[in-house]
Amino acid sequence: MKIVTASTFDGVYLDHNATTPVDPSLFELVPVWMSQFGNPSSIHQAARGPRTLIREARIKIAELLNVSPLEIVFNSGASEGNNTVIKSIWDRRGKERPEFICSSVEHPSVIKAMNAIENKGAVIHWIPVSKDGVLDLNFVKTHLGPKTALISVMSANNETGTLFPVAELVGMAKAAGALIHSDCVQMFGKHAIDLKKLGVDYATFSGHKFYSLKGCGFMYIKKTAPLENLIDGGAQERFRRGGTENTVGIAAMGHMAAKMSAMDLSSKLVELGQMRDLMEARLVAEIPELHITAHASPRLTNTSHMMIAGIDAETLLINLDLDGFFVSTGAACSSGNPEPSPALLAMGFARNEAQTSLRVSLGWNSKADDLEKFVERLEKTVSRLRQMKKELDNVKA
Ligand code: PLP
Repeated sequence: MKIVTASTFDGVYLDHNATTPVDPSLFELVPVWMSQFGNPSSIHQAARGPRTLIREARIKIAELLNVSPLEIVFNSGASEGNNTVIKSIWDRRGKERPEFICSSVEHPSVIKAMNAIENKGAVIHWIPVSKDGVLDLNFVKTHLGPKTALISVMSANNETGTLFPVAELVGMAKAAGALIHSDCVQMFGKHAIDLKKLGVDYATFSGHKFYSLKGCGFMYIKKTAPLENLIDGGAQERFRRGGTENTVGIAAMGHMAAKMSAMDLSSKLVELGQMRDLMEARLVAEIPELHITAHASPRLTNTSHMMIAGIDAETLLINLDLDGFFVSTGAACSSGNPEPSPALLAMGFARNEAQTSLRVSLGWNSKADDLEKFVERLEKTVSRLRQMKKELDNVKA
């Protein structure tokens, strides 16, 4: 089987919400960091290099997010971060405040952590989200009260790219004495984030979504916010997350945070939005019955989610893959799973509609001519699949 690598890849990669390619600068830096092999917790000199890497990464990330370095806790990624926040709030506050409010279109690591505490007695209020990607704030107002422990709402949805009104939710949570968490995985590198200004108590991030390495991430835990360890162990991360640190992964995240601080990210994001909008306009004009999901709602500029009537998305994906175009049906974690996306079902789409969905997500290096090639290929593939279906239906009839 052909293995795709950064140096041999000659296709069009449009699946940046699943994971981003590793930034080219890291190919030189990672071996240097790897050679600093000491355990960062050791007393001897071999610890000095790795300890410095971690300290500097913490400072760079904190600077970019406008928070204190002590509020950053490194871990294995956002699935761990989301589980840590939700389960620790239940442990700490569940007795006096057993209710949680959560959007119905969160990543499975949030949904399943909520299900786990529900089994222990928590009451979860799932906020409805419309087909246009709009979160029902009135539902939050109705269900928020003195028994609410936590509101958890992602900043941007991984499938449709819609942005949620987290700042507004912060005000509502504070007024009720509740804590607030936001899964910021899809925002980092795709939208400006100032955590101090935003005012959330917790935010979770994942390295492989911002051109860094996999299996490494971090949580923002506001100084005043309670936290219970998910992983007990040594004194790492000021006793907030046991386990020897992934020094190389952490250094890579710090490096990428510094790179983001130095680059003109906002111009890049505007440019991506213009390319995305042009692509969508062509797709809608050239492919009959193709609908862009939540097109009129605030969205990440890199994400385009669509439904193409009569097309089985898995079949489409395989055909595009064979032609060198890498896209997704939605959530990467559910690839190979014939079940339609739970997030789309929660938004009110029927199963057969959800099974026609395609997500195209651009990255910093996406090019306009690659998108043109993609539009042409998609148009041809959809026409061919529709024609085949018609012929098959005729044979059956
Ligand atoms: N949250 C969101 C919104 C995601 O898109 C993802 C990954 O797809 C995660 C959480 C999980 O992140 P990780 O892969 O670091 O566990």
